[in-house]
Amino acid sequence: MVSDGTLTPEALAERAKINGVELWSLTDHDEIAGQHRAAAAAHAQGIKYLTGTEISVTFAGETVHIVGLGFDASDAALTNGLQATRSGRTERAMDMSDGLAKVGIKGAYEGALKFVGNPELISRTHFARFLVESGVCSETHEVFRKYLTEGKPGYVPHRWATLKDAVSWITAAKGIAIIAHPARYKFTANEEYALFTEFIAHGGRGVEVVTGSHSAAEYVKYADTAQEFGLAASRGSDFHSPAESRVDLGSLPFLPGKLTPVWELLADRIQ
Ligand code: AMP
Ligand code: MN
Repeated sequence: MVSDGTLTPEALAERAKINGVELWSLTDHDEIAGQHRAAAAAHAQGIKYLTGTEISVTFAGETVHIVGLGFDASDAALTNGLQATRSGRTERAMDMSDGLAKVGIKGAYEGALKFVGNPELISRTHFARFLVESGVCSETHEVFRKYLTEGKPGYVPHRWATLKDAVSWITAAKGIAIIAHPARYKFTANEEYALFTEFIAHGGRGVEVVTGSHSAAEYVKYADTAQEFGLAASRGSDFHSPAESRVDLGSLPFLPGKLTPVWELLADRIQ
C-alpha cells in the first residue's frame, strides 16, 4: 500500500485470516507508514502482528534486502533513516525512463507513476506494471527479465543504505534485523560469507530461510547456513499482489524444526 503491494492492509489481513495465518507482518520497502493500520487490521481479524519493513541496502555492488521485525514504529532514527533511503528513487526512476526511451518505450516514468500510491516510493514494480498494461510484455516477471535487471535498458544502478546503517536502525529501535531471501543475490561464496559475517558483526540476528523467493533446495541450504552462523530463521511470503506473486500469504511450508524462529526472539514485541 505504501510501497509496491496492490492490496490494502485490510484486504491483506482478511486474506491472511482466510489462509490460516496466525502471526503477520506487513513489510513495505523502505517505509513504515502503513504499520499502525496493518496492526489494527490484523487485530480486527484476530491475528497477531509484528511491525515490519524491508530496507534496501547496497553490499558488494548488489542490492540486498534487510527485513526488520518487531521494532518500535515511532522510533525517530529508524523513520529518518528510511526517509533518507527513499530519497533518490524519483531521480532513479527518471533515469530508468530515459533508458527505456532509448529502446523505443516512451513515457515510462509517467506511465509508472499511475500505479504509484506513495510518491516517494516509485519502484521497478511500478514500471513493470506499466509495461504489462501497455502490452510490451505479458507479465511482470518478463519485464524484469527483459528490461529491469542488470545490463538491461531500464536498469539503473543505485546506492541504497549501508548494511551497517540498516541493521543499526532496526536494532536501535528494539527490532531484529534479518537477511531477506539470500538465494536471490548473485554473490560468490566469499561475498556471501562476507555478507553474513558483517551482518552479524553489526548486530543482525536472523536469516529468511523459507520464502516465496526460494526453492525447496534453497530452504535446506539456508537452514544449514542459519545453523552455521547461529542465526534465527524467518519465513515470509513476499506477497505483493494476487496477479503477480507466485506464493500466497500463509501457503509456504513451515520452518525446519531444528531452527529457532525469529518470532521466538520477539515474543515480547508481538502485538
Ligand atoms: P526496487 O526497490 O525499485 O529495486 O524494486 C524492488 C521490487 O522489484 C521488489 O518488490 C521485488 O519483489 C521486485 N522484483 C525484483 N526482481 C524481480 C523479478 N525478477 N521479478 C519480479 N519482481 C521482481
Ligand atoms: Mn525483497
